[in-house]
Amino acid sequence: MRYRIDTVAAHAGRVQPGTSTPVTPPISLSSTFLQEAPGRYDTHAYARVGNPNRDALESTLALLEGGEHAAAFSSGCAAMHAALQLLAPGDHLVACGDIYGGTYRLIEQLVAPIGIRVTWVDMSDEPAVVAATTDATRMLWVETPTNPLLRIFDIASLSGVAHERNALCVVDNTFATPVLQRPLEHGADIVVHSMSKYLNGHSDVVAGALVCNDEVVADRLRFIQRAGGAVPSPFDCYMIARGIKTLPLRMARHCSSAGALAAWLRKQPAVEEVHYPGLPDHPQHALAASQMTGFGGMLSFVVAGGLEAASTLVRRVRLWSLAESLGGVESLVGQPALMSHASMPPEVREARGVRDGLIRLSVGLEDVDDLQDDLLQALSPR
Ligand SMILES: *Cc1c(COP(=O)(O)O)cnc(C)c1O
Repeated sequence: MRYRIDTVAAHAGRVQPGTSTPVTPPISLSSTFLQEAPGRYDTHAYARVGNPNRDALESTLALLEGGEHAAAFSSGCAAMHAALQLLAPGDHLVACGDIYGGTYRLIEQLVAPIGIRVTWVDMSDEPAVVAATTDATRMLWVETPTNPLLRIFDIASLSGVAHERNALCVVDNTFATPVLQRPLEHGADIVVHSMSKYLNGHSDVVAGALVCNDEVVADRLRFIQRAGGAVPSPFDCYMIARGIKTLPLRMARHCSSAGALAAWLRKQPAVEEVHYPGLPDHPQHALAASQMTGFGGMLSFVVAGGLEAASTLVRRVRLWSLAESLGGVESLVGQPALMSHASMPPEVREARGVRDGLIRLSVGLEDVDDLQDDLLQALSPR
């Protein structure tokens, strides 16, 4: 029986049913499991390789993304690093230019130095993506919506470009979550998540995940997960499964509040640009509407006056918390140029449209009028 996504989410993390199964799963903290005879055991031998809470979370993740296999990791970066370890020296990676700062750092400083060639390309320009691929291209790395400019890339057509070259198309689905976007259904091969964001949703766990359909790819990813050992604890898996139970409800609220704030910000004289895929004049609004079932809880805008004005605004807000990260119940504000994208050289940052006056919002679950009032007082001249 295939259940719909709200049902799958509500039952996140349930362990295998039996007559003595508690409805809420226990946290199985044991690092090791009894064996019947040497090398003979039921399901688990050692907790790095697998444990009940991680298994339950992984099956939920696969169901949520409409995939066959999932592997959980100790951070989004560890998950991304595992996916990138499918590449060998001499292979070529094509990655989207407008990308999470930590992904840029991982690819440039840990992946490129071992002999993997990397080409950064604007993935809204499909001919440029095709032109960037070579016979050595083994992977396309796509993030959509992007951070922090909320640009949208066409997963189906980019997957097609990858498959022409027998390359894998990897999509970072952290911003959208499977509630709003299911990349595997558009042809992607691997979905990446930082579960530290919306999936856990309460800003109290750092973890990541990969989901895919192909058995061979899945076996390799699982091998990297277990041999590399960057796995989340049973407690973290329990917490994430608990968070996922309310994911569809949370996403609905994140979307409606972000949409309302984006429309309101557009009308503020001190605001020069608003980036939100739900706005009808967003350059990829139609694509977003066809690829996603909602426009998400993230938006960014440029305040007039550059670095200084943006820094003043993020210090003046009271309800919005000045912090890295996103996707939690509480609203967060950040200045990418000085925070999430500080690891990018200024000229690279500027070339990618991350202007000094850019402010990124992770719209939380508070009353949207309170969030708006706070932005208004912070924007008002004094
Ligand atoms: C946070 C984030 C990551 C990295 O995840 P961590 O859990 O912080 O390691 C990767 N991609 C995106 C889009 C993110 O927002």
